[in-house]
Amino acid sequence: MSEQIEDRCELCNVKYLSEQNRTAHLSGSKHRKTVEKVITEDRERLDASKSAVETMERRLSNTTRAVEDNENVLNAQREEIRLTRIRSKNRASKSRRFLPIS
Ligand SMILES: [Zn+2]
Repeated sequence: MSEQIEDRCELCNVKYLSEQNRTAHLSGSKHRKTVEKVITEDRERLDASKSAVETMERRLSNTTRAVEDNENVLNAQREEIRLTRIRSKNRASKSRRFLPIS
């Protein structure tokens, strides 16, 4: 089994002309700068992803709060409707009770 030696630097998009050329490229300043650039870009992408996730988490928690608030309002309205029905039922039965017989 022969070891596969890469014939090019994928980061710099450079084709190695020889083994010495490969060694020279990998220890050269151009390659190092490219590696630093790639790492910096990766880090920036990671930071951007993190802040996007944080924004989504904030929105989710705001939405969750809004839903809870709406549920509270809805429950209060249901309770109000329930009490109104009870009151009007009581009124109706009272007025029936005191309705003069014609
Ligand atoms: Zn390179």
